[in-house]
Amino acid sequence: MTHILLHFLIPLLLAKGFYSKNWQKAYMILMATMLVDLDHLLATPIYDAARCSIGFHPLHQELMIGIYVLALTYKPLRLIALGLCVHMLLDWQDCYFKI
Ligand SMILES: [Zn+2]
Repeated sequence: MTHILLHFLIPLLLAKGFYSKNWQKAYMILMATMLVDLDHLLATPIYDAARCSIGFHPLHQELMIGIYVLALTYKPLRLIALGLCVHMLLDWQDCYFKI
C-alpha cells in the first residue's frame, strides 16, 4: 500500500518543488506516466504482489529504462521521462524493500 502511495506522493513533491508555477499541469503529466503500467495487462496474473516489475514487464525492461534516462536529456520529453524514471525507481525499490 505504501508503494502505491509513493507513486502519487513523489510526483506531487516533484511537481510542487520543480514546477511551482504550473504544478497542477506538471503533476497531471507525471501521473499520466503511470500508464506505463498498462503493460501489466499482458502478464498472467495481471497483478502479483510478489513479482518484481523491473525486467519482467515489456515497458519495465532495462532497455526501456535506458531510453527513459536518455529522454531526460531532451527538454520537450523531460517531464515525461522524469515521471517514467521515478516510476521505475519506485518499482525497483519495491523489488527489494517491501514497504
Ligand atoms: Zn510499474
